[in-house]
Amino acid sequence: MDPHTKASPAPPLASLPLPRPMEQPVPGHTTSTTERGSFCLAVCTCGWKGPARRSRDLARQDAARHAAG
Ligand SMILES: [Zn+2]
Repeated sequence: MDPHTKASPAPPLASLPLPRPMEQPVPGHTTSTTERGSFCLAVCTCGWKGPARRSRDLARQDAARHAAG
């Protein structure tokens, strides 16, 4: 009789806890508008500032244009 019994132990399942990515804003261009006196201008987290506008809409457009490209 051959005593060779090939035991094949099942490898333990890798049950490492997956690192859960934190939900945070992507570092980059997060724009907002700020008011300065009677003017409104777009600002970005990268340090960019748009020109002072008379209307918030225009400042928002500046911000959108900056964030887009
Ligand atoms: Zn920016």
